[in-house]
Amino acid sequence: MKRILVTGGAGFLGSHLIDRLVEHGHEVVCLDNLQTGNEENIKHLEERITFVKHDITNSFPDLGDFDEIYNLACPASPIHYQANPVHTFKTSILGALNVLELARQTGAKIFQASTSEVYGDPLVHPQPEDYWGNVNPIGIRSCYDEGKRGAETLFSDYARMYNVEIKIVRIFNTYGPRMDPKDGRVVSNFIMQSLQNKSLTVYGDGKQSRSFCYVDDLIEGFIRMMATPKEIQGPINLGNPNEFTMLELAKKVIRFTGNESPLQFNELPQDDPKQRQPVIDEASHILNWHPKVSLDIGLQKTIAYFVNRVEC
Ligand code: NAD
Ligand code: UDP
Repeated sequence: MKRILVTGGAGFLGSHLIDRLVEHGHEVVCLDNLQTGNEENIKHLEERITFVKHDITNSFPDLGDFDEIYNLACPASPIHYQANPVHTFKTSILGALNVLELARQTGAKIFQASTSEVYGDPLVHPQPEDYWGNVNPIGIRSCYDEGKRGAETLFSDYARMYNVEIKIVRIFNTYGPRMDPKDGRVVSNFIMQSLQNKSLTVYGDGKQSRSFCYVDDLIEGFIRMMATPKEIQGPINLGNPNEFTMLELAKKVIRFTGNESPLQFNELPQDDPKQRQPVIDEASHILNWHPKVSLDIGLQKTIAYFVNRVEC
């Protein structure tokens, strides 16, 4: 049994990760400021984990020693990370420094939830890990993109300077149950809008693409990455390489909800990447990881979860 810290553990991905860690018999401390997360996501675990309400940009209370730290704390939805961009940048950089110091002091292995956003609006398609990206340093997405790039730098320098054992994964758009219905990301927006018989808000012409990974597949990748030998540091892409336009996604959501929701075309946000698809050869060779859940199946599972949220 290991003692494991999960920052951002009350969020969408964090709560699924904690489910898996508890299932494996580990002792888990969940640390979260509840900015975009929700205690409801971990309520079923309240007897089995310790919850600490704390912002990772502030120095940490004494939490004891850890074998492993997963750093997931950071709003992931553009509307949330853009709401207070300075705090987002602090979360990415000061937060990373605080968790890295904790890892250094306690000898913990540390995992960073990085993102496909480090590739920006990519000029190379699909994106392998050795592509350095095309990122606007001063745009409205920069607090997140550059913050996550800076965090990768800090992780890499802590490994080089202090021999801290690091694991970096770059997550491509992931969806599933426990996304916040008001989160603002495309999958939760389309599903909620369709279930409520509202128009689906397609930004731009809807021809921009993303590759959507179901949450269970992603969490399996996290666990496999954390279990790799010390020399494996990443960054490693984790995502489902099947790529869809937002129009294709909208059509699928409409088909699976059974509601004839119309499309409403809104302005495309600034710096919105036109396309995104991971090369997952590294994850395949190093982790023997392959996403298994198709978008059709994953959407149906996610819609089943959101149906209950609409009724509540
Ligand atoms: P989420 O918003 O549901 O979860 C983030 C969690 O971090 C929330 O519980 C929030 O309250 C907490 N948090 C935010 N700032 C904090 C701070 N300063 N101190 C303490 N807690 C803080 O988002 P998610 O989709 O679960 O994303 C989790 C992580 O994965 C994030 O780091 C995100 O950047 C990364 N990621 C997610 C995706 C995706 O598609 N879901 C893609 C790329 C990267
Ligand atoms: N998007 C959309 N309608 C929405 C929300 C998002 O068309 O209601 C688009 C958005 O412009 C982007 C894609 O869907 O091109 C994915 O957006 P999301 O916010 O989910 O993630 P990210 O842009 O970070 O990949």
